[in-house]
This record gives sequence, structure tokens and C-alpha cells, in this order.
Amino acid sequence: MAGTEEPKPSHFIREIITRDMETNKYGKRVHTRFPPEPNGYLHIGHAKSICLNFGLAAEFGGLCNLRFDDTNPSKEEVEYVDSIMEDVRWLGFDWQERLFYASDYFGKLYECAVELIKIGKAYVCDLSADEMREYRGTLTEPGRESPYRNRSVEENLDLFGLMKAGEFPDGSRTLRAKIDMASGNINMRDPVMFRIMRATHHRTGDSWRIYPMYDYAHCISDSVEGITHSICTLEFEDHRPLYDWFLDELKLYHPRQIEFARLNLSHTVLSKRKLITLVEKGHVTGWDDPRMPSIAGFRRRGYTPEAIRNFCERIGVAKRDSVVDMALLEFCIREDLNLKAPRKMAVVRPLRVVIENYPEGQTEELDAVNNPEDPAMGTRKIPFSRVLYIEQDDFREDPPKQFFRLAPGREVRLRYAYFITCTGVVRDDKGDVVELRCTYDPATRGGDSPDGRKVKATLHWVSAGHAVEAEVRLYEHLFKTPALGAGTGNFLDDLNPGSIETLRSCYVEPSLKNALPGFGCQFERLGYFCVDADSSEGRPVFNRTVTLKDTWAKIEKGKKG
Ligand code: ATP
Ligand code: MG
Repeated sequence: MAGTEEPKPSHFIREIITRDMETNKYGKRVHTRFPPEPNGYLHIGHAKSICLNFGLAAEFGGLCNLRFDDTNPSKEEVEYVDSIMEDVRWLGFDWQERLFYASDYFGKLYECAVELIKIGKAYVCDLSADEMREYRGTLTEPGRESPYRNRSVEENLDLFGLMKAGEFPDGSRTLRAKIDMASGNINMRDPVMFRIMRATHHRTGDSWRIYPMYDYAHCISDSVEGITHSICTLEFEDHRPLYDWFLDELKLYHPRQIEFARLNLSHTVLSKRKLITLVEKGHVTGWDDPRMPSIAGFRRRGYTPEAIRNFCERIGVAKRDSVVDMALLEFCIREDLNLKAPRKMAVVRPLRVVIENYPEGQTEELDAVNNPEDPAMGTRKIPFSRVLYIEQDDFREDPPKQFFRLAPGREVRLRYAYFITCTGVVRDDKGDVVELRCTYDPATRGGDSPDGRKVKATLHWVSAGHAVEAEVRLYEHLFKTPALGAGTGNFLDDLNPGSIETLRSCYVEPSLKNALPGFGCQFERLGYFCVDADSSEGRPVFNRTVTLKDTWAKIEKGKKG
């Protein structure tokens, strides 16, 4: 890491690794992995895990593997595998040649199971799923031993071999670890290791009729890859004894499992099952809908990898669950874009303005600053002419006290252009104002008055004859309630019906005419926007990435005050 970087705030996982390095526990190695199940697209919660695993490895000069946990072929798809790789790379991380699949180890997992049978630690069980549930007991009651628990090693080896050979119907038998049906930890009550399932696997095809369970596959995969610190979310804390049991019984190299609190974010859901529901039921346009908390959605919306990484660093790593306010993520996006995004002029709800004393047919080019935060980004020319558009919101015929923008008889500044004064309005049949008549002061070119005359507002604008018509999509939270699932109801009931507003007759400055999808900029006074892939030749479509209003600062201030 570059020496100029600020020291990172420490957290318990970093401390564990630091200690393990000092005591030489793993031969001064740090080797982590990110183990997604390819049954959905990655979301911002996964980004936290990615940043943690890849970040810690980089920090300690170690390695991080990408491993697909593809043990359940019934829900997994190649589309997901591809999207996950794209998203991890986009976030800025590199697994180099270390791309693995749990399915790479199916053979090894089978052999280990045979080993456990041989030492009397695994058996073939004929209980059905329902029966097994019944035998399992509850949190307060011990389980009962399966009637098949004391089969001989020979019989178990024989039956397990036949399971593998496809001799039995799906679900008719399982291979279970022989641990302790009376254990206080339900995970230790003879958990299933292999199940029979006729499903075509995206990598191994139809060669397997039995598939390993996550708990069994995960620890052995970690061990095979020489992982040192196996970082996972808190719900696996109760599975750790099982992780340790398998590796101890098999006398395999033993990584350490460490659990941390998963990320929960306000106003959205971070569960693949729920996200899939949103996609499948058409509540969003797809996994990359800009309202989705998926990495693909955020990318399309104009969020940057730097901002997401920064967010993940800022939220820290804890042992207790909490909900992070979406406002913090938006703050991180804004902070990054403020430094990088070129400024542009765009009017999303246009009101026509005619400058009566400006010569008809004349155009002039005015200088506009590309980014006040970064002088190196220079300036550009923007055209000015007699007919302009300003924002409808920037005019009030009957202005209330605190409204300082344009009103009849009032003078305001047009950014980088001139002072204008409203001299009249034009109405349609319904009596609505559809056009403003104004005059300009030629002496205020560039937006400064030579006589020190003050105006209280500066408006953005575009030249009607030069502007490019565009579609602009404004986004709000996908869910209207900050803490979902608080009630007993269906999470879909919390969907925000106003999460998208599409404005079809917007006008943007001509430099944006052929901007490419992904291009991000700030529309002055309106927010950060980026070009969407739905754009067509000469007609760009913009997504609002984030508004300019910093709600996070307010939340923080509220806490302190
Ligand atoms: P989901 O609950 O959304 O289905 P998952 O845990 O089943 O998520 P995986 O593909 O198994 O999804 O996750 C890959 C890795 O990402 C795991 O190590 C998991 O612990 C981690 N992860 C998943 N969700 C979060 C989250 N919200 N915060 C932090 N880490 C997460
Ligand atoms: Mg999982």
C-alpha cells in the first residue's frame, strides 16, 4: 500500500490477522477467499465481503481466491457466474489465476466422505426429509437417533457407492455425519453431507447424482486451497463447530473461520431471494435496474467502484448486526463524484425564456468551468441565444418570502452568461405560464455586473436552439420504509411506488449529444447523472445517480447535537 494513505481504522479481523502474523501461525501467510454461490447477482453486502477478503489479503501481502460455491445445481446458472466475475473485477479486485469452483472438489469430497464412513463417522440414512426434521428435535429438546445410524461400515460403503452410481431416487437417502443427536447445537445433530439429486450441473454436467451440502463442502474447499482465514457472516457462527469437526476428523489442514456482521442497508433488501423476487415479478426491470442494490444496478446508476470501496471501509467490521443508512452510501458517492464529475447544464422541467432585447439569429459562445473542484479539468464553450430554457421551479409568478429566484420584475444571474430580468409572462389557454419574456444586460457578460449590482440567485439554463433533447430518469428509494421486515407483512408491501420518475422532454447542453453509456457528470444544481445504455443516437437517456443534497451530514449533526 502507498505510504501516503491514511492508516485504516482497525477492526477485530485485522487484529486477529496481525496477531497470527506475529505468532507465525500460518507461516506468515494470509490467504482469504470470496465464496459466492452463483444463484444471483452480487449486491452491496457482497461488496463488503469482497473488500474485506481481497482488501485484507492485499494489505498483508497475501492472496485472495475467487471460489464459486456451486454445490446446488438446482438454483445455479452460468449467467450468475459471469456477472459475479464482471462485478468483482469492476470493483477493482483481481483473483489472478486463482479462480476455483467447489465443484472442482467433488471427487475429493467424495473420497473424504468414504474416509469418514471408514472411521465410523458417517452413515447412509434412509429417513425422508420430513422424518429427518422430526428426528432432529428442537432448540429445547434433543434429537433422536436415526434407525439407520448403526449400519456397518461395509453396508454404508456399499450404499454410498450405489448412491453415487445413481441407483436410488432423488431424496430417498442421504449421507450423514455421525456426531451427536443430543448436541445443544442443532447443526451438530448428524448433519447431511450428501444428498441425491438428479440435476445437470453447469460444470460437471450429469456426472454426479449426489451433491455435497454447503457445510461439508466449504471447510474442505478452504482446506484444499490453503486458506488461512475463512471470513464469513455471523449466521455461520453456529456452524463453526461443524467446520472444525470435519477438518479435525479428517485430519486435514485447518483454516480458521471468523464471522462478522453482514451489511444491512436502509430502504432496500440485501437477500438474493428477495432480489430475485423483485426481478421475476417485474417490480424492477432487471438485476441491473438502477434502483437495485446490486453491483450491476449501482454501476448502471453511475456509482463508482472507488466510492463503494470507500463506503465499505467506512462502515467498518463488527460482530453485531446493524443497519447502515443509505444516506452514508450516497454521501460516499457524492464525495467521489464531486471531485471527478464534469459539470454540465441541463434543464429537466423546461420553461421557455425569450430574451427580447437579444438579437434574433445571434449565438455566442460563453466559457463554462468544467469542475470548480479541479482547475485542471479546464473550461468549455456553451452556446447562448435569444431563446433559452430554464427550470420551471426557478420561476414563481407570485414568489413567497424566501423565494429569491426569478419572478416578474426580478433580476437574476444565468450561470456563466448574463443577468436577466423578467418583464412578462405568456399563458396558454388554461392560464398556465408557458413562456417568460425577459431582457438581459449586455454589460454583465460572463455573469458579473460591472457596477457591483447584486442578484440573489444564479440559475442554470440551456439554449433552446442548441440543446439536445433527452430523457431523464429520477430515482428515489426502492422501498419507502427504512427498516424493512420490521412488520410481519410481505416486503413487497413496502415498495415505494414513486421510486422512478421518467421525464421525457428534458434538454441538455450540446456537448452531451453523443455521450457514451456510463459517462457521468453533474447537472448543475440538479445532481449527478450518468448516461444509460437505453440511449439512442442523438437522444441520450440519463439516470440520476444521486442528488446534491447531503442528508448524511444532517443525520450526523442530529446525532451529535
Ligand atoms: P444472500 O443472503 O443474499 O442469499 P448469501 O450469503 O447466501 O447471501 P453468498 O453468495 O453465499 O450469498 O455470499 C458470498 C459471500 O458474501 C459469503 O461469504 C457471505 O457471507 C457474504 N455476504 C453475503 N451477504 C452479505 C452481506 N449482506 N454483508 C456482508 N457479507 C455478505
Ligand atoms: Mg450463502
